[in-house]
Amino acid sequence: MLDHEDQELIDKFNQKVLTGEKDECWLWVGGRNSSNPNRTHGVIRRDGTGKAIKAHRLSWAIAHNKNPTKLLVVQTCNNKLCVNPAHLSTTTVPPRGSAKGSKNGSAKLNEAQAMEIFLAKGLLKQIAFIYDITPSTVYNIKQKKLWKHIHTKG
Ligand SMILES: [Zn+2]
Repeated sequence: MLDHEDQELIDKFNQKVLTGEKDECWLWVGGRNSSNPNRTHGVIRRDGTGKAIKAHRLSWAIAHNKNPTKLLVVQTCNNKLCVNPAHLSTTTVPPRGSAKGSKNGSAKLNEAQAMEIFLAKGLLKQIAFIYDITPSTVYNIKQKKLWKHIHTKG
Protein backbone atom coordinates (compact mmCIF):
# COMPACT_ATOMS: atom_id res chain seq x y z
CA MET A 1 0.00 0.00 0.00
CA LEU A 2 2.74 2.46 0.85
CA ASP A 3 5.58 2.28 -1.61
CA HIS A 4 6.82 5.29 -3.54
CA GLU A 5 3.88 5.03 -5.93
CA ASP A 6 1.71 6.11 -3.07
CA GLN A 7 3.47 9.42 -2.53
CA GLU A 8 0.80 11.18 -4.58
CA LEU A 9 -1.89 9.67 -2.43
CA ILE A 10 -0.06 10.70 0.73
CA ASP A 11 0.36 14.25 -0.57
CA LYS A 12 -3.33 14.36 -1.38
CA PHE A 13 -4.11 13.04 2.09
CA ASN A 14 -1.93 15.64 3.81
CA GLN A 15 -3.73 18.45 2.03
CA LYS A 16 -7.03 17.40 3.56
CA VAL A 17 -6.01 17.20 7.19
CA LEU A 18 -6.28 20.01 9.71
CA THR A 19 -3.19 19.03 11.64
CA GLY A 20 -3.21 20.14 15.25
CA GLU A 21 -1.01 19.62 18.26
CA LYS A 22 0.21 16.07 18.91
CA ASP A 23 -2.55 15.30 21.38
CA GLU A 24 -5.33 17.12 19.57
CA CYS A 25 -7.75 15.67 17.08
CA TRP A 26 -6.63 16.13 13.51
CA LEU A 27 -9.76 16.68 11.52
CA TRP A 28 -10.29 15.24 8.10
CA VAL A 29 -11.75 17.89 5.80
CA GLY A 30 -11.82 15.83 2.61
CA GLY A 31 -14.56 13.59 1.30
CA ARG A 32 -16.84 11.53 3.50
CA ASN A 33 -18.58 8.26 2.89
CA SER A 34 -21.90 9.25 4.38
CA SER A 35 -23.83 12.23 5.62
CA ASN A 36 -25.01 10.25 8.65
CA PRO A 37 -22.85 11.63 11.48
CA ASN A 38 -22.99 8.31 13.33
CA ARG A 39 -21.54 6.35 10.47
CA THR A 40 -19.50 8.87 8.57
CA HIS A 41 -15.77 8.65 8.16
CA GLY A 42 -13.35 10.36 5.84
CA VAL A 43 -12.54 8.79 2.53
CA ILE A 44 -9.88 9.50 -0.03
CA ARG A 45 -9.80 8.32 -3.62
CA ARG A 46 -6.69 7.41 -5.49
CA ASP A 47 -6.39 9.39 -8.73
CA GLY A 48 -7.45 7.33 -11.68
CA THR A 49 -9.29 4.67 -9.68
CA GLY A 50 -12.59 5.18 -7.98
CA LYS A 51 -11.70 3.05 -5.00
CA ALA A 52 -12.37 4.85 -1.74
CA ILE A 53 -9.85 4.40 1.05
CA LYS A 54 -10.83 5.25 4.61
CA ALA A 55 -8.88 8.33 5.65
CA HIS A 56 -8.12 7.16 9.18
CA ARG A 57 -6.91 3.79 7.91
CA LEU A 58 -4.59 5.55 5.50
CA SER A 59 -3.35 7.77 8.32
CA TRP A 60 -2.59 4.69 10.41
CA ALA A 61 -0.89 3.04 7.46
CA ILE A 62 1.31 6.10 6.86
CA ALA A 63 2.23 6.36 10.54
CA HIS A 64 3.08 2.66 10.86
CA ASN A 65 4.33 2.20 7.32
CA LYS A 66 2.20 -0.86 6.84
CA ASN A 67 -1.28 -1.72 5.73
CA PRO A 68 -3.73 -2.48 8.54
CA THR A 69 -5.17 -5.24 6.28
CA LYS A 70 -7.74 -7.09 8.37
CA LEU A 71 -7.33 -5.03 11.52
CA LEU A 72 -10.05 -2.61 12.44
CA VAL A 73 -8.65 0.90 12.92
CA VAL A 74 -10.62 2.89 15.47
CA GLN A 75 -10.32 6.36 16.94
CA THR A 76 -9.60 6.22 20.66
CA CYS A 77 -11.07 9.73 20.89
CA ASN A 78 -14.31 8.51 19.29
CA ASN A 79 -14.14 11.30 16.75
CA LYS A 80 -14.85 9.55 13.48
CA LEU A 81 -13.25 12.31 11.43
CA CYS A 82 -10.06 12.34 13.47
CA VAL A 83 -6.98 11.08 11.65
CA ASN A 84 -4.34 11.87 14.28
CA PRO A 85 -2.22 8.68 14.35
CA ALA A 86 -1.88 9.15 18.11
CA HIS A 87 -5.63 8.73 18.39
CA LEU A 88 -5.80 5.65 16.19
CA SER A 89 -5.66 2.14 17.48
CA THR A 90 -6.14 -1.24 15.91
CA THR A 91 -8.35 -3.98 17.14
CA THR A 92 -9.42 -7.35 15.86
CA VAL A 93 -12.87 -6.89 17.36
CA PRO A 94 -15.35 -6.63 14.50
CA PRO A 95 -17.58 -3.56 14.41
CA ARG A 96 -21.06 -4.17 15.71
CA GLY A 97 -23.72 -4.36 13.04
CA SER A 98 -25.90 -1.75 14.61
CA ALA A 99 -26.14 0.03 17.90
CA LYS A 100 -29.34 -0.87 19.63
CA GLY A 101 -30.84 -0.46 23.04
CA SER A 102 -28.60 2.44 23.89
CA LYS A 103 -31.21 4.00 26.15
CA ASN A 104 -31.44 0.91 28.35
CA GLY A 105 -27.91 -0.29 27.87
CA SER A 106 -27.17 -0.20 31.57
CA ALA A 107 -30.09 -2.46 32.44
CA LYS A 108 -28.17 -5.56 31.33
CA LEU A 109 -25.43 -5.01 33.86
CA ASN A 110 -25.07 -5.77 37.51
CA GLU A 111 -23.10 -3.66 39.97
CA ALA A 112 -19.99 -5.79 39.79
CA GLN A 113 -19.92 -5.47 36.03
CA ALA A 114 -20.54 -1.74 36.21
CA MET A 115 -17.51 -1.43 38.51
CA GLU A 116 -15.43 -3.60 36.18
CA ILE A 117 -16.36 -1.34 33.30
CA PHE A 118 -15.57 1.75 35.33
CA LEU A 119 -12.09 0.36 36.01
CA ALA A 120 -11.55 -1.23 32.61
CA LYS A 121 -8.71 0.01 30.48
CA GLY A 122 -9.00 0.03 26.72
CA LEU A 123 -11.13 1.46 24.02
CA LEU A 124 -14.75 2.26 24.70
CA LYS A 125 -15.65 0.13 21.68
CA GLN A 126 -13.74 -2.88 22.93
CA ILE A 127 -15.19 -2.66 26.42
CA ALA A 128 -18.66 -2.18 24.96
CA PHE A 129 -18.20 -5.26 22.81
CA ILE A 130 -17.20 -7.41 25.78
CA TYR A 131 -20.26 -6.42 27.80
CA ASP A 132 -22.63 -6.18 24.84
CA ILE A 133 -23.47 -2.57 25.54
CA THR A 134 -22.93 0.59 23.56
CA PRO A 135 -19.74 2.70 23.74
CA SER A 136 -21.81 5.60 25.03
CA THR A 137 -22.95 3.47 27.97
CA VAL A 138 -19.31 2.68 28.75
CA TYR A 139 -18.49 6.35 28.51
CA ASN A 140 -21.32 7.30 30.84
CA ILE A 141 -20.28 4.69 33.39
CA LYS A 142 -16.73 6.01 33.30
CA GLN A 143 -18.02 9.56 33.68
CA LYS A 144 -20.16 8.43 36.64
CA LYS A 145 -23.29 9.49 34.82
CA LEU A 146 -24.59 5.94 35.02
CA TRP A 147 -24.30 3.60 38.01
CA LYS A 148 -23.05 6.45 40.15
CA HIS A 149 -24.35 4.77 43.32
CA ILE A 150 -21.62 2.09 43.07
CA HIS A 151 -19.11 4.78 43.99
CA THR A 152 -20.80 5.84 47.18
CA LYS A 153 -20.61 2.51 48.98
CA GLY A 154 -18.68 2.10 52.20
ZN1 LIG B 1 -8.83 12.45 17.87
